[in-house]
Amino acid sequence: MAKTVNFRVGRGRTREARKAFSSHGLLAAMDLVGMTDDEKRAALAKHAHAAGAQQDPSAKESAGDVPPSQSRVEREHGAEQVQHESQYLTADHPDAYVDFPTPADKLARWRQYHTMGPEPFICARCKGYGGHNLVVNAYPLPAGVEDTPENRHKYCHLSSSCMQCAGWGYVTDRRDAVCAHEFDQGTSVGHCLKDYTCQKPGCGRVIAIDSSD
Ligand SMILES: [Zn+2]
Ligand SMILES: [Zn+2]
Repeated sequence: MAKTVNFRVGRGRTREARKAFSSHGLLAAMDLVGMTDDEKRAALAKHAHAAGAQQDPSAKESAGDVPPSQSRVEREHGAEQVQHESQYLTADHPDAYVDFPTPADKLARWRQYHTMGPEPFICARCKGYGGHNLVVNAYPLPAGVEDTPENRHKYCHLSSSCMQCAGWGYVTDRRDAVCAHEFDQGTSVGHCLKDYTCQKPGCGRVIAIDSSD
């Protein structure tokens, strides 16, 4: 029997999602649905690393004989092969969806977990991919792991999940299918609870995010 998982921005999300939100910010609220516990831990660790790199790139460069300006990614793969960690790919970059599951794959996955209810809409932000690569080939493939697009997606690329669809690629609310939201800084509406309002003309979608654990 298919397990129903509620993984939405705002109220009613799972404990893992809430943890991801509170520990590592919105970008880390990634595609945890259907992962094993080990996979979730690995994914969260990967994003914690990414969050660290964003906040303070120099913090982890203190040891060793490597110049501080050279990132771990550049040391392992060569500066010419990868982008600097601070230069993340945007969703419109040609490599943004390299090795990503296709929107058709994501729709099949959606149906696997949502056996009832209406057909979903394709997410306006990620176009059905559920996220995009931030850095291609940021990590080496683990020893003994076969070199396939699936494994490269899982292990090699630093990627971000889409916050608008929580990584599903599909949404049930039509407002999330017609606007790639750009939320404001948020208004506090209670203890640890903030409302974020989309600033795009004609949208005004509001989501509530609880930052407590
Ligand atoms: Zn999306
Ligand atoms: Zn919007």
